[in-house]
Amino acid sequence: MTPGIRPFIAGNWKMNGTWRGSIALADAVREAAPSIYADLLVCPPFLHVHSVAQRLLGCRVAVGGQDCHAQPAGAHTGDIGAPMLRDAGATHVILGHSERRANHAESSDIVLAKCRAALAAGLLPIICVGETRAERDAGAAQAVVAEQLTESLPLGFVTAGGIIAYEPVWAIGTGLSATEDDVAAMHAMIRHRLVDAYGPAARTTRLLYGGSVKPANAAALLALPEVDGALVGGASLVAADFLAIARAVAAE
Ligand code: PEP
Repeated sequence: MTPGIRPFIAGNWKMNGTWRGSIALADAVREAAPSIYADLLVCPPFLHVHSVAQRLLGCRVAVGGQDCHAQPAGAHTGDIGAPMLRDAGATHVILGHSERRANHAESSDIVLAKCRAALAAGLLPIICVGETRAERDAGAAQAVVAEQLTESLPLGFVTAGGIIAYEPVWAIGTGLSATEDDVAAMHAMIRHRLVDAYGPAARTTRLLYGGSVKPANAAALLALPEVDGALVGGASLVAADFLAIARAVAAE
């Protein structure tokens, strides 16, 4: 963890869950939240954002979207604008997730435009960056992530409280997690570049790790320097696992 930064554990529910199931998951997180030191966020599918946000009103668990359009409104069938997410009760939005970059051909330019739209709507963006297995094997992991950072972050990102999630693509949903040394090295590089580009304010930008985080590996990953929390996919769908990960954060 980085001293002075409040840890943050975010759950990305992806395209999972019925309305009833989402409410039950939200209720379980809500009930446990008072005994958890970390700040918590859940990101349901768009369809359930409003219901989950209503259910979590008045408690310390925030709600986020999993994407937003670069335009606030208009003729974009099937898309969701950042102001709509805000209106539904979201405070955060995940952008540039590798599943969006791969399945929807989202380039860093698009992520940048979406990030600007999120900030304009008052949403805190969580920008995902990460290398593929082939890029890591070619020794290009740090260069790839550095380029994604340079190309995806707009001016004002750091001062607004934007968050970065380092998620090696090959570790997402595979059960394989990056080694502690690799995570520590990547987070150190990300911090260094952010401070270089944005100045001392970037010393408190939250840097999350994501990629097969589970109760068994959470404590070790979350104890690494410059790892300020986790973005959790699969394990966030099981309340007991998500809460066990959140409890693995050591209080300062
Ligand atoms: C994610 O999708 O952001 C993620 C980290 O997934 P998982 O935890 O399932 O690897």
